[in-house]
Amino acid sequence: MVGWILKKIVGSKNQRELRRLAPAVRRINEFDEQFKSLSDDALRAKTAAWKDELAKISDPEEQWNRLAEILPEAFAVVKNAARRLKERRHSFAVCDQPMTWDMVHFDVQLLGGIVLHRGRIAEMATGEGKTLVATLPLYLNALTSRGAHLVTVNDYLARRDAEWMGALYNFLGLTVGCIQHDQEPDVRRQQYACDITYGTNSEFGFDYLRDNGMATTREQQVQRGYHYAIVDEVDSILIDEARTPLIISGPATISTHQYDKWKPLIEQLVRKQTMLCNRVASEAAEKFEQGDVETAGRLMFKVKLGQPRNKQLLRMMEDPDKRRAIDKAELAFYTDTRKEELFALKEELFFTIDEKSNEADLSEQGRTFLNPDDPNAFVLPDLINEFTEIDLDETLSPEEKDKRKSERQQICDEQAERIHNISNLLRAYCVFDKDVQYVVEENKVVIVDEFTGRKMPGRRWSDGLHQAVEAKEGVQIDRETQTLATITIQNYFRLYQKLAGMTGTAETEAAEFHDIYKLDVNVVPTNRPVARKDHNDRIYKTRREKYNAVINEIREHHTKQQPVLVGTVSVEASELLSRMLKREKIPHNVLNAKFHMQEAEIVMRAGQPGTVTISTNMAGRGTDIKLGPGVPENGGLFVLGTERHEARRIDRQLRGRCARQGDPGGSRFYVSFEDDLMRNFGAADRMTKIMERFGLEEGQELEHRWLNKSVETAQKRVEQRNYLIRKRTLDFDDVMNMQREVVYTYRNEVIDSEDPRTLIYEVIDEAVPAKLKEYLDVDEPNFGGLIHWVNTTFPLGLTKDKAQFETRSVDENAQFLIGKVKEAYERKSSHEEPSAVKSLERYIILNAIDRLWQEHLYAMDALREGVYLRGYAQKDPLIEYKTEAYDMFVELMANIKNEVLHNLFRSTSNLQAFENFLASLPQFLLREDAPTAPTAPARARQPQPVGAMAGVAMDGDGAGEMSIDLPVRRSLPKVGRNEPCPCGSGKKYKNCCGRTA
Ligand code: ADP
Repeated sequence: MVGWILKKIVGSKNQRELRRLAPAVRRINEFDEQFKSLSDDALRAKTAAWKDELAKISDPEEQWNRLAEILPEAFAVVKNAARRLKERRHSFAVCDQPMTWDMVHFDVQLLGGIVLHRGRIAEMATGEGKTLVATLPLYLNALTSRGAHLVTVNDYLARRDAEWMGALYNFLGLTVGCIQHDQEPDVRRQQYACDITYGTNSEFGFDYLRDNGMATTREQQVQRGYHYAIVDEVDSILIDEARTPLIISGPATISTHQYDKWKPLIEQLVRKQTMLCNRVASEAAEKFEQGDVETAGRLMFKVKLGQPRNKQLLRMMEDPDKRRAIDKAELAFYTDTRKEELFALKEELFFTIDEKSNEADLSEQGRTFLNPDDPNAFVLPDLINEFTEIDLDETLSPEEKDKRKSERQQICDEQAERIHNISNLLRAYCVFDKDVQYVVEENKVVIVDEFTGRKMPGRRWSDGLHQAVEAKEGVQIDRETQTLATITIQNYFRLYQKLAGMTGTAETEAAEFHDIYKLDVNVVPTNRPVARKDHNDRIYKTRREKYNAVINEIREHHTKQQPVLVGTVSVEASELLSRMLKREKIPHNVLNAKFHMQEAEIVMRAGQPGTVTISTNMAGRGTDIKLGPGVPENGGLFVLGTERHEARRIDRQLRGRCARQGDPGGSRFYVSFEDDLMRNFGAADRMTKIMERFGLEEGQELEHRWLNKSVETAQKRVEQRNYLIRKRTLDFDDVMNMQREVVYTYRNEVIDSEDPRTLIYEVIDEAVPAKLKEYLDVDEPNFGGLIHWVNTTFPLGLTKDKAQFETRSVDENAQFLIGKVKEAYERKSSHEEPSAVKSLERYIILNAIDRLWQEHLYAMDALREGVYLRGYAQKDPLIEYKTEAYDMFVELMANIKNEVLHNLFRSTSNLQAFENFLASLPQFLLREDAPTAPTAPARARQPQPVGAMAGVAMDGDGAGEMSIDLPVRRSLPKVGRNEPCPCGSGKKYKNCCGRTA
């Protein structure tokens, strides 16, 4: 209350901020007036002049300051150009359709443009013309020639907006590009080279991953930095997509999941559970009959634990008395602090499902059913205890102890894997529904985004869940894949020096934008007052009654030719409604994940008289619904929500689809007690009371503005929970993000280095002393081991006598060895062609990074999964994860260096050179009977030299202590003679690294 009064007196923070921008808007308009007298060329000349000036400023900070200074003038240039295009009725083509330019920026649009330039989120209602707003800051920021990006939700909008707004940019002398899914790298590079580039978040993200994680030369990279980006529909991208990272993956070498094997048993188990729950529910029904409400409530709570979507349960929840009995039982179980009774109850089932947290848990009975011989097959052994016992067993030698431990460890790993598979399958059967969370298409399971209803082809649930659902649906189970590169969309956007966003709905999530992305939200007022009438929610007992009422209301509007847009939360719901409408012979269009091709056109027609359009929540976002003739007089577009969404934002989006630019329009939401939101998070108790008080009849509804509040409270509760989940995901991802940055930076340094030899030497300088410390900086220095390592890594043929390691300090030894290694390396390289050596050196490092980084990603996945199992030990999984991830990363970096050392003398750009090098080695290093001794004539071999095995035998100190093979690894991929050389030279392989003579 106080807050409300304060707002009235001093105005909200948002209003104050916007008021401060008002003078800038005035100045833009003044400039615009002045520019009217300029010729086209004079107006256009400003672009080039600013570009020249800004190019001379190298400090980004200073550049930003200069941009802020020229903002009013630059925005005026854009507005003035728009005016000229409009006056000339400039015609051009957009997505092959004729188009005439008809827009000049409104004042609120100028305001929105300033907000975007400042790196904030501009909340502007649907139809306010965000596409045009973005032209202002994009033009201004592109003047730095560092590239300005606009991120759209789909490829179609990227192309449409680039071509549409392109008219304006081209008039002003800026180039504009557009990234599309099917473009080749060359084309992409051209698009990124433009002043302004439009594209979707996943295309931008994948290009980043390919550039930084896969390209091996500068020429292969397509992007050119992350300067300024505006994210359109920023809430959908930063909030809704926060859970699915972009992943580039390849097939893993081994598949450990065994879903097909477990599927039949799990199917039986699920069936048994269903039968059990049905039996219990019938028993409960009898108890209710007999008036034993308490027992009945307990029984039904059991059903809820075992099968939350049980039909009888759902039906009983409609009855206020029964509902209260069940809720009461639930409360009693959860308030019992010892949880013993709850535990006992769970044991009466085969497994339990927690719908809210998406988890599945086997009980003793369930475990026995799955593996009658060994129910412990699904319990993790207590490793710590077992290890301690092994350690204490004095009859075992140290080797035997190690052996036993590793056996136990292996059993534990297998067990964990099995538990994981079963849990995934149970979730697949009991929590994931076809046509809600996913659809099956062309023998594939395709995820449906629960917020947008859009299909997300190519994305997969992680952790084997996707495979479990594939097994359930009986489609081809894709081989377990291994992550080659991954990033969350959020972290991709964090790369930009300046980020801005626009959307119709950001306000409810403002705190999250601020906390996580440091993005503040400014709500920009509409150009004309909003004339939409939002009606109270209508609440029904059951879904069936609710849908009947929805159909009635649709019919009412349809009969008087008022267009209706019906929003649903799932594909399933929109299909159900469509069937009901068909039965009623009401013509309609369905927009859901399954038809996104014609989406934009259907949405455009949704404002014509009498049309009925059913749409999953955000299908067709970004396309504006214009009213047809006679519609405004008829009340405008009516939006009807068939369910309240978990997030208020999504509901606001749906409402915002009508009443654009001051048009008339109305909206209403329908809710039932059977909706997921109400079942899981509704103030069930209170609602039940209200229902009782009013004594609802079949088909009767509740409607009061106080009830809207109750629904909103439930939504806020879910929003908060989802926010915490997203935050958690990001906390975990932050760890990966830092590591990725280090690795990618190093990788790029290698790619860009003109003199990779220095990088190789850095590796030698760091890795050799580290190794020496391992052998010598310990209680009992291991000189033998050190010599062994040296001789298996470098062709130095060191003997105890020659090395004299005992006579020097660790540091002196390091210097000595570094000198020797570099000397040998110089000798090896001297036999090769200088340019080829450079490519090879880069290749050796990149190869080590890529191979080990991928292994590391795999291990990090496992770690992330593993720390949750440790949650039992009351440790915070995140802290555990961070600590271990850090250790693993330190190890990774050391391993990369060691691998480089290891491959230094095992790689060659050309076999002849390698043989020359071998020939130059002292004879005692070479063994006569080596499989491919260098004495064999080189020409007799196949022209894939680098794949060959060259045996170099060394006879250590003559005492026969060491005899080591030095195999040549295939350090360059196997390539055909006429293919481009993998070293990136652009020449054919046979004329470059593959040259044999
Ligand atoms: P939003 O993304 O904000 O929902 P759009 O960018 O799709 O809105 O634009 C909505 C409609 O408003 C488009 O048809 C566009 O042509 C029109 N429009 C936008 N700005 C102006 C303007 N300044 N003058 C006239 N029409 C405009």
